[in-house]
Amino acid sequence: MSKRDFYETLGVPKNASEDEIKKAYRKLAMKFHPDRNPDSKTAEAKFKEVKEAYEMLSDEEKRAAYDRFGHAGVDPNMNMGGGFRGSGAGAGGFADAFGDIFGDIFGTGRGQQRSSGPQMYRGADLRYNLDITLEEAATGADKTIRVPSWDVCDTCHGSGAKPGTTPETCKTCDGSGQVRMQQGFFSILQTCPTCNGMGKIIKDPCIQCHGVGRVKRNKTLEVKIPAGIDDGMRIRSSGNGEPGANGGPPGDLYVEIRIKPHPVFQREGDDLHCEVPVSFGRAGLGGDIEVPTLDGKVSFNIPEGTQTGKIFRLRGKGIKGVRSGQAGDLFCHVTLETPVKLTDKQKELLKEFDKLVVEGGERHTPQDKSWGQKVKDFFGG
Ligand SMILES: [Zn+2]
Ligand SMILES: [Zn+2]
Repeated sequence: MSKRDFYETLGVPKNASEDEIKKAYRKLAMKFHPDRNPDSKTAEAKFKEVKEAYEMLSDEEKRAAYDRFGHAGVDPNMNMGGGFRGSGAGAGGFADAFGDIFGDIFGTGRGQQRSSGPQMYRGADLRYNLDITLEEAATGADKTIRVPSWDVCDTCHGSGAKPGTTPETCKTCDGSGQVRMQQGFFSILQTCPTCNGMGKIIKDPCIQCHGVGRVKRNKTLEVKIPAGIDDGMRIRSSGNGEPGANGGPPGDLYVEIRIKPHPVFQREGDDLHCEVPVSFGRAGLGGDIEVPTLDGKVSFNIPEGTQTGKIFRLRGKGIKGVRSGQAGDLFCHVTLETPVKLTDKQKELLKEFDKLVVEGGERHTPQDKSWGQKVKDFFGG
């Protein structure tokens, strides 16, 4: 099961340039291309391997991730905490965390067999939007989701034909699912329009499954969400998409993570931001204030004369990134709170206080001076 190193697959050194990678890929892709190696499973496998390696290494971001994690996202034995466990019938193999990095890379035409007989079709991929909280994203979580799955129809046992009847071989293509069309000098193979590549015609479809041979059910999957996952990231569950046709492989299921808005924190990458209201008195005098973090409250000291808009950075109090493995920071944005609903006594003291501040002049109001200057400049001095 061990996967070959992508660099080895392409036969290039780890520090190969983009150009070298492209050249190596072209050479190998030509060599193993299915058109040049009809009916060779080895060549097909090689071709896919080469294509996968190229798509990984030709993308700067994917290559960086691969250099960092290796096959971690692909190999369930070395994963980084993400993945699936299936329960219920038909739950396909293991899954990859970071489907968006290591996911759908075989491109178009995958799963189509180049051999005689009906064409195989890979099943469609499915997407599932999973809403999670910011806390769940930060710590990781196990989630249970219900997704569609398909069972072989027990009325027709998968043939799609009404019991007592059998599908007929398509006369247009003699059951191959393909027809040869002449176009100029070339003859090209096309999917048979009569049977849509199935090679068979069902005259009397099964009532239960309407000739599809399968019925839709639901199944439960457990999704392991890796800590640090961010909004929009996808987790791939191999083989849990729609079933293929004519023996083709099933598609994959992509669980797309959506993080619900949080009442206190805004996330930016692995950093968090929050607003911290500070009383006018506390801001002036300085002292300890309490701020929320994802692991509970912490207190820290703000200096005397802290202004509104001041940002304090708490290192490592952000989210530990799923890719970086490093914790981001928490940025606390101070907003000064003007006191409201003052009592007579408070008003009296505040008036007294304000008088003293005015008497003390500019040194108490650092912004007043520069603001005053700006106004002056605006009116032409
Ligand atoms: Zn049926
Ligand atoms: Zn046909």
